[in-house]
Amino acid sequence: MIIIGGSVAGLRSAEQLAKRGLSVLCLERKQEIGVPKHCGEGLGLGHFKRLGLKPDKRWCAAAMKGAILYTPTGKKVEIKFDKTVGYILERKQFEKYLAEKAAKAGAVTRVRSNVSEIKREKGGVKVTVKDLFEAEYFGKMLFACDGTAGIASRSLGLENSIQASDLDSGIQYEMVGIDFDQPDMIHLWFGNDVAPRGYVWLFPKGKNHANVGIGIGSHLGKPAAFYLNKWIDARPEIKKGSIMEVNSGIIPVGGLLEKMTADNLMLVGDAAHQVNPIHGGGMGLAMEAADLAAEVAAKAFKKNDLSNSALQEYNSRWWEKTGVKLKRILQIRYMMESLSDKDYEALAENFTGEEIMKLQGGSLGESAKLVTTKLIRKPGLMKLMLKYLAPKEGRGK
Ligand SMILES: Cc1cc2nc3c(=O)[nH]c(=O)nc-3n(C[C@H](O)[C@H](O)[C@H](O)COP(=O)(O)OP(=O)(O)OC[C@H]3O[C@@H](n4cnc5c(N)ncnc54)[C@H](O)[C@@H]3O)c2cc1C
Repeated sequence: MIIIGGSVAGLRSAEQLAKRGLSVLCLERKQEIGVPKHCGEGLGLGHFKRLGLKPDKRWCAAAMKGAILYTPTGKKVEIKFDKTVGYILERKQFEKYLAEKAAKAGAVTRVRSNVSEIKREKGGVKVTVKDLFEAEYFGKMLFACDGTAGIASRSLGLENSIQASDLDSGIQYEMVGIDFDQPDMIHLWFGNDVAPRGYVWLFPKGKNHANVGIGIGSHLGKPAAFYLNKWIDARPEIKKGSIMEVNSGIIPVGGLLEKMTADNLMLVGDAAHQVNPIHGGGMGLAMEAADLAAEVAAKAFKKNDLSNSALQEYNSRWWEKTGVKLKRILQIRYMMESLSDKDYEALAENFTGEEIMKLQGGSLGESAKLVTTKLIRKPGLMKLMLKYLAPKEGRGK
């Protein structure tokens, strides 16, 4: 079994496949696992539970109790719980922890192993690595965990390209020496001039230490850095700080794939666009998909049938458990894209934090009901929101 990409999807897949007795080689082109990180490092407690992960000081920087959302004029909506609901990780350490767990289970990971060619051969897959380690490897099956821009899937004939309007571009500064309130909460700023089709985030990693970043629609003119720098320039309490690190990358926030398998091939993580279309979080979804993919692949190995039809269970179970939910969230993303700054203010005035959570997480029917009751005096906004909250046919691409 060959895995291309040694990040969260690849490393979790490696562990889960090796635990099921398969021989696993995970190839990663970076020179150090986890470095650079392209991530705000936020991971919700639900994922910890479903993945059986226990927060560890080595790779958990700070515990979070909720979120504060800010409108363009600075109105705040607080969604606070009396217990921890998520963590800001130290992702460089977290990925190393995943690599250790994979190694303990018997998988081998190799950095500086850029895969330059992938071909079907003798009922399996041959990959060529041209890097510090030059080699050719043959595997009966390939896990494509090589991210949004990866080549693995397309090399084997499974289309996973994504249109520009379904990509966010993100940039983030890890900063110290900055001042902000409530270091046990994540902070999110919305508005069409602040972050078109996205938000500015401040994810605390300590009292004066945070990831300060932005994600915006990648097709929307000015680069993400322009908006982030403008936002920081207007805040002396942030501007005075030190930037220790710059992280950037693209985030698939749509383009959900109906087919994530082909003969001898499975796609996991960003390579399969398994990302929350509103907040852009993909770590937890990637690792949960890795667990499912490994279970299905191990069954297929046992039956000695690695054909696309033997791997179908991955597509159907992922869509049933996760895809349907993400598709609904995608509809809400489309709705958010059509909101004006005035609409954001109206939402903050009319909805509590708890209700905003329900809008994002509840069924379309529940969300529509909530919108109808809360926006009775705002018929224009109500109509606009309801248009996007109607069920749509079909799955992904
Ligand atoms: C700015 C930013 C902030 C984000 N913040 C958050 C957040 O706070 N929380 C969250 O959950 N998610 C966040 N995300 C999304 C999250 O980082 C991704 O969803 C997640 O990393 C997906 O994991 P993955 O393993 O599928 O892909 P990736 O992490 O992209 O890993 C793919 C790996 O494959 C390797 N690779 C690619 N091609 C080859 C090749 N040919 N040969 C060998 N190796 C190869 C790459 O080097 C890379 O290590 C953020 C993303 C960005 C860009």
